[in-house]
Amino acid sequence: MNVDVVIIGGSFAGLTATMQLVRARKKVVVIDANSPRNRFAEASHGIFCLDGKTPAEIRATALTQLRVYPTFELIEDSANAIEATGDGFKATTERGHSLTAKRVILAMGITDKLPEIPGVQERWGKTVIHCPYCHGYELSDRALGVLATSEMSFHQAAMIPDWGATTLFTQGQFKPEGETLKHLLTRGVTLEHSPIVEVLGKGIEVEAVKLADGRTVSIQGLYVGPRITLTSPLIEQLKLEIEETPLGPIVKVNGMKESSLKGVYVAGDLSNPMQNGTFAIASGTMAGVAVHRSLIFDE
Ligand SMILES: Cc1cc2nc3c(=O)[nH]c(=O)nc-3n(C[C@H](O)[C@H](O)[C@H](O)COP(=O)(O)OP(=O)(O)OC[C@H]3O[C@@H](n4cnc5c(N)ncnc54)[C@H](O)[C@@H]3O)c2cc1C
Repeated sequence: MNVDVVIIGGSFAGLTATMQLVRARKKVVVIDANSPRNRFAEASHGIFCLDGKTPAEIRATALTQLRVYPTFELIEDSANAIEATGDGFKATTERGHSLTAKRVILAMGITDKLPEIPGVQERWGKTVIHCPYCHGYELSDRALGVLATSEMSFHQAAMIPDWGATTLFTQGQFKPEGETLKHLLTRGVTLEHSPIVEVLGKGIEVEAVKLADGRTVSIQGLYVGPRITLTSPLIEQLKLEIEETPLGPIVKVNGMKESSLKGVYVAGDLSNPMQNGTFAIASGTMAGVAVHRSLIFDE
């Protein structure tokens, strides 16, 4: 199949970019494995008009609205290879679809690497969270913990007292000093240096954390800043330039979301230094509009 644009990743960023392009009457195929980053959460919050909607409801609504446009097509599959062909790109999928396109938008998201502590993974997105704007309100007025994963966790710990009494668990590795320590103490943050070795509680609830020195500390919600990782082979296949951020690597783009390889645009968490649904939607809009303009002006 030969199309104007192939978009890999059909979530906040990819489907927003798609909307711009199909309204510009471009033939767009979205390849999506339907595994968005927020799939662990029961609801999405803090997104204009979508507060409280489940990730599945958001995807279904976006697809219903896109199916109105005759030049939209969705392939529910995983893209496993991509190459530049000289006058465009060729993408193939695990189940054997093959497409050529004039432009590519990568919107594949990132993978969260959580600390390997028993009790963290199964509560992720529910009572073990990273983003206070996404799920902090739901954990209001509880005793809250911040499990330090880098020095960025000091910043997080200084914010969390707006939702509940906060303990920063430094894991014995990330110890704030000087002005940072003073600020945390001014904010009422308690420090605990013995590492968390297990998160305890019934079902998805957090009731306490067990520390390496044998004590338990009672908390009912835990913040963890995961390290973000890029797991897709497509980035390496296209040899895209990478940029380091305090959270981990992202793909380097210019202001129009174009990557180091002409014709390849990258939107959403994959290229955003600040990441949430709204930022992904905004960058998907930029990528969609920029691709349309490039089809007119860069041909
Ligand atoms: C637990 C949790 C809860 C969150 N809650 C909120 C919230 O309440 N509000 C908020 O604003 N933000 C929230 N976020 C952040 C939000 O999920 C992300 O910022 C957002 O999903 C990024 O959108 P995206 O389109 O860039 O990528 P994603 O939503 O991660 O989507 C990427 C898509 O690409 C697909 N894909 C990947 N590789 C391939 C491939 N090779 N071929 C085909 N498809 C592929 C994936 O399957 C997926 O469908 C949360 C994050 C987490 C971890």
